[in-house]
Amino acid sequence: MQLESLYQDIILDHYKHPRGRGAIAHAAGESHQVNPTCGDEVTVQVALDADGGLVIGYEGQGCSISQASASVMAELLAGGSPEQADTARAAFMDLMRSKGAGEPDEEVLGDAVAFVGVSKYPARIKCALLPWVALQDAEAKAGIAAGVPQDEEGRTA
Ligand code: ZN
Repeated sequence: MQLESLYQDIILDHYKHPRGRGAIAHAAGESHQVNPTCGDEVTVQVALDADGGLVIGYEGQGCSISQASASVMAELLAGGSPEQADTARAAFMDLMRSKGAGEPDEEVLGDAVAFVGVSKYPARIKCALLPWVALQDAEAKAGIAAGVPQDEEGRTA
């Protein structure tokens, strides 16, 4: 199977069977982002669990790229540290700037490597980035920052 069609299958699978979709009970931060050129909307909620791992919830509507990207992101980053989320977000943003020539690291990006083809289409890049931008904003609103210690209630020390 061609890599490109495998990647399309991954994106379609996340679109049809979103992972971890839905609101979370005690969100510490929330961000609603819209991409008016495509009509995409996504709301991402975030909190920290007792071990300092990210708890991520999301809802949204729009094209398959935007919604699959939210599912891929939530699956990849839920339970991981804010540092891991920062690293993956930076790698994904680099990938989206690669104009299709990126060589994504699956260790860092998981299924998000499937979006490499999207970076060839400037109009779709914002679709793919929308949930990642929403998570970054939600983390900022929650006061979650990589490297900043927090107590069990999620307050920064
Ligand atoms: Zn879109």
